[in-house]
Amino acid sequence: MVSSASPSLEPFEAGHDTSSPNRNLAPLTAAVGPDGQLSVGGCRLHDLAERFGTPLYVLDEQTLRTSCRAYRAALASHYPGDSLALFASKAHSSLAMTALVASEGLGLDAVSAGELHTACDGGMDPSRIVLHGNNKSPEELLLALQCHATVILDNWFELGLLEELCNGHGLRARLLVRFTPGIECHTHHYIRTGHLDSKFGFDPDQLQELLSHLAGCNWADVAGLHAHIGSQIFELEPHRDLASVMADALALARRLGHSATDLNVGGGLGVRYVASDDPPGIDQWVRTVAQAVQEACEKRGLALPRLLCEPGRSLVATAGVTLYRVGSRKDIPSLRTYIAVDGGMSDNPRPITYQSLYTACLAGRPRAAAEETVTVAGKHCESGDVLLRDIALPSVRSGDLLVVFATGAYNDSMSSNYNRIPRPAAVIVGNGKADLVRERETSRDLLRFDRLPQHLQPVS
Ligand SMILES: *Cc1c(COP(=O)(O)O)cnc(C)c1O
Repeated sequence: MVSSASPSLEPFEAGHDTSSPNRNLAPLTAAVGPDGQLSVGGCRLHDLAERFGTPLYVLDEQTLRTSCRAYRAALASHYPGDSLALFASKAHSSLAMTALVASEGLGLDAVSAGELHTACDGGMDPSRIVLHGNNKSPEELLLALQCHATVILDNWFELGLLEELCNGHGLRARLLVRFTPGIECHTHHYIRTGHLDSKFGFDPDQLQELLSHLAGCNWADVAGLHAHIGSQIFELEPHRDLASVMADALALARRLGHSATDLNVGGGLGVRYVASDDPPGIDQWVRTVAQAVQEACEKRGLALPRLLCEPGRSLVATAGVTLYRVGSRKDIPSLRTYIAVDGGMSDNPRPITYQSLYTACLAGRPRAAAEETVTVAGKHCESGDVLLRDIALPSVRSGDLLVVFATGAYNDSMSSNYNRIPRPAAVIVGNGKADLVRERETSRDLLRFDRLPQHLQPVS
């Protein structure tokens, strides 16, 4: 038996950072009521599970808004020029999220026609949308051009497609040129190389040739440059280095006659998934980036560009929790105890894909002392379908509600229908109210696109 206090006390008590939600494990509004039950956004998780079923994605509106405001406030206070934070919507793409970040004055980055449609239908001003991708289709490019979104130019092939589309439709393309800055980040260290083995963007050695070529393209407006160095980054130094590499590229673009008003430094700020994670706060990250860009530009005598950044994970991860119902249990004497929940790798593919760690507690007894160490498995037909390995919990019973923290980013957006399991519903909570933002799929929904050819139809 484990007798120490459950580490799950941490999420909603110790060390709460109210200004930078990416530093907390739990949503800002997570609270334990007089009945000892956990609530988020003023809604008891138990009630949400009863009303909407499980698994359930729960998003806390206050945490989301606080994160958006933290980016905007930090940019305004640390960068003397214009700036814009763009939500990297691949972290969580939905109409509701789009509308929320738009209402907070953010822009958005999309990587497909699907994300672009979601952004436009969710009310994002297209002049604040950028389209990414290393293999955008002609249809995706045309969609972006026609709604006047900015295209992040990724490669020579795409340049050819854009030229054809612009000439064919009498359109102009507003472009940011993406290049690989030669800075590679892993979670806890980074390397600088001249070249990077990456599928995204132009090699830095090709920038001169590319920008010279673009100077002669009257269909193209080179509005600036883009680079992105990675995700779940806890270090600040790589972002400082990035600023000087980008300022060199900016100087080159302007020398070649481009307006190049925008410098987009990408996203990547990490979040806390487990108590031992200690990411910088949003303000600290923005201050580092803003000061580095300013210094690098001053050193080169460059007029300050508009500073863009593209946070994804750090805007949404800790605003989200996932609720699961505990079902079966398997005790393997002196080896391991598995408890199984009603979701798993189809609603959260990060553990099986990246061996990502999470924190969890029981919604009904969040403060109860840990009594056993269990491994939380999903219900998919895959031995690796494990959400949390060896976590300490009060003794778990079938029917308990398990809360997994920090699932707001790259869960819903990376979900699948593996094993023909319907995707969960998603709700947004605030001030004691819960609103559905995505309907739960049904098994019948999953058959919608199946077709049975005549010769395979069962003979009746
Ligand atoms: C994934 C991605 C982001 C967002 O990264 P986070 O780590 O979620 O902040 C931003 N820009 C680009 C180009 C990306 O590919």
